[in-house]
Amino acid sequence: MRVALGGIFGALPAGDGGAGTARGVADTPEGRQATVRAREHLPRYHEQLAKRGARPVRVEWRFTMPVGAHTVRGRVDRIDRHPSGGFQLVDYKTGSPPRGAGVGDESMVLALYIAAATEGRQVKVQGARLEFVLDGDARQFDPDPAELAESMEEVRVLADGISLERFDPTPGWHCRSCEFALLCPAQDR
Ligand code: SF4
Repeated sequence: MRVALGGIFGALPAGDGGAGTARGVADTPEGRQATVRAREHLPRYHEQLAKRGARPVRVEWRFTMPVGAHTVRGRVDRIDRHPSGGFQLVDYKTGSPPRGAGVGDESMVLALYIAAATEGRQVKVQGARLEFVLDGDARQFDPDPAELAESMEEVRVLADGISLERFDPTPGWHCRSCEFALLCPAQDR
């Protein structure tokens, strides 16, 4: 169950075999294109961070937390000290920002991160932020307690569904590094 959720959230550590699979992704046309874009845009992203005075205190913070009857493992890309006190969680994205002003479907993952840091580490969390490192955009997620509870309930329902093998695979280039590709029905085509 843990592993399945981690795969869905894209939040599992790479594991011992990660280096090999990462090399495989880098050798795909998409991977090469991403490398070119990264070389072009990451210096600008770094400048933006320096201008904002971002103060990272932790990168790749791994957590485990109970969600209903399940145990979920995840990893927060970066934790910054917030200028008003407490901490802000940062999730890197290499894709395009969602349409509209919000965080779109990422709200569940961000809620999980916030809940894990708040409940698991007893720290004050000043929301979570998606940073689109190749795009220059960023989206802030500051749920109130009711919104956070609602998102966590969605996580629980999703976890229940996954444990019953009720979820739709979403194939894409990320399948190249998926630990479940051999079992995935989407790979039979
Ligand atoms: S192979 Fe692709 S579609 Fe199937 S579970 Fe893995 S990431 Fe999802």
